[in-house]
Amino acid sequence: MQDPNCIFCKIVRGDIPSRKLYEDQDVLAFHDINPLAGVHFLMIPKDHVKSMMDLEEGHRNVMGKMMVLAPKLAREQGSQEGFRLIVNTGRVGRQEVDHIHLHIIGGTQQLGAMLPRSQGG
Ligand code: 5GP
Ligand code: ZN
Repeated sequence: MQDPNCIFCKIVRGDIPSRKLYEDQDVLAFHDINPLAGVHFLMIPKDHVKSMMDLEEGHRNVMGKMMVLAPKLAREQGSQEGFRLIVNTGRVGRQEVDHIHLHIIGGTQQLGAMLPRSQGG
């Protein structure tokens, strides 16, 4: 299942170029075009799923696969001492691309605070 207008579906199809770091039949990982740290890549299911709020039982395997792959790929990319995994979801989560994606953000430098204290609540 693909959405012809979705930018990440276009990356899956190769219609938009990306710097891939992992691919199999279910999953694609590629470097974020606008990295926020020394390591910043995205991991997506190849099937178009809009956001975490659209996950169903049938997505259990692919989402589990991505969670197990995340630390392996993070280490390979140079995050030996940890990383942050972010899944921005919906309007409140400020999701900008409506194809579910994990951000894996790390590197050698410690990251900033998770959220400024003034946020949310
Ligand atoms: P969101 O705010 O939806 O969680 O994050 C979307 C992410 O996708 C952003 O970090 C942005 O830099 C990245 N992004 C948007 N368009 C492209 C693109 O065409 N190629 C790549 N590699 N990353 C993209
Ligand atoms: Zn898509």
